[in-house]
Amino acid sequence: MELSSTVLTNMAEDKKEREPKDGNGGVGKEKDENAADEVAGRSKRMLLYTCFNDGAGNYVDPSWTWFTCWRCGDLTYI
Ligand SMILES: [Zn+2]
Repeated sequence: MELSSTVLTNMAEDKKEREPKDGNGGVGKEKDENAADEVAGRSKRMLLYTCFNDGAGNYVDPSWTWFTCWRCGDLTYI
């Protein structure tokens, strides 16, 4: 009789979403979707941050305090 399933349970627990509820934030964008809107008068620029987990570039709103990577889902505080 083996009872070796505790490790798997812990891994599943770690995969749960850990998005903070305080402050602004969300999922980073692969491309600056607002860049095209500048011509139309909207000047809100996205900021580019690099995910520490896989190095993917994430465009985020300047008001955000955290974001999750669009590629790997890792949480990063700005
Ligand atoms: Zn990432």
